[in-house]
Amino acid sequence: MCSGRVDLEFVLRAFSNGMDGVFIGGCRLNECNYITHGNYHALNMVLLCKRIMEHIGLNPERLRIEFMSSAEGILFAEVMSDFGNHVKGLGALGKGEGIDPNELKSRLAGITKLVPYIKVVKNEKLASRLEHPEDYDKLFTKDEIDKLFSEVISYYIDPEKCQACMTCAKRCPVEAIISAKNQVHVIDQDKCIKCGTCVEACPPRFGAVTRISGGPVPPPLPEDKRTIVRKGKEKKEN
Ligand code: SF4
Ligand code: SF4
Repeated sequence: MCSGRVDLEFVLRAFSNGMDGVFIGGCRLNECNYITHGNYHALNMVLLCKRIMEHIGLNPERLRIEFMSSAEGILFAEVMSDFGNHVKGLGALGKGEGIDPNELKSRLAGITKLVPYIKVVKNEKLASRLEHPEDYDKLFTKDEIDKLFSEVISYYIDPEKCQACMTCAKRCPVEAIISAKNQVHVIDQDKCIKCGTCVEACPPRFGAVTRISGGPVPPPLPEDKRTIVRKGKEKKEN
């Protein structure tokens, strides 16, 4: 219904499925029928995605967004024909860039996994409205995107502080927290989408969830060492 509905993940999925190019057609800027002006969101997402493509070695010209009215059939045909020919000239995805197919698959999968994180971190810019085309290239810079990926934040539960209250596990949107009663909680790093909800959810008196920027995450506590022995219970057992 709206170009603003085209998520960054949809574009990456198209490339992951082997598409050589992705075209997004939106209504003319400032002619949106709704207050949302979704075409500006689509434009910002495309500008971000182009930088991400550069970061992983793909030619950003494989992605194009154009704005036109539904009455401009001839313009649409011309643009599509031009884009199709241009993408043909770039060659097959990955092959044109000299990237091994398995390597490309792994780079795209790595980036796709970070989409929720990228959207949270770049939320403000993604919601901005660029009035002048000369500002498009400045919205996201190469250095900024390289830094974004070199400083990716990971979340870690400190086993010394976790009190197994289970609050974080209930709030995690993707069930990435291994949770059980009286067991130190552990984040499954493969499932975690880095939304940061667990940091907010962990009661300040425990403060067990920490953010790690760019560095490695300590290995999880082995399963047989996760049981928390409460002081009262310890006495009873003795
Ligand atoms: S950051 Fe925390 S809440 Fe968000 S997905 Fe990862 S473990 Fe779950
Ligand atoms: S909210 Fe904090 S204390 Fe409670 S289980 Fe999660 S990490 Fe542990």
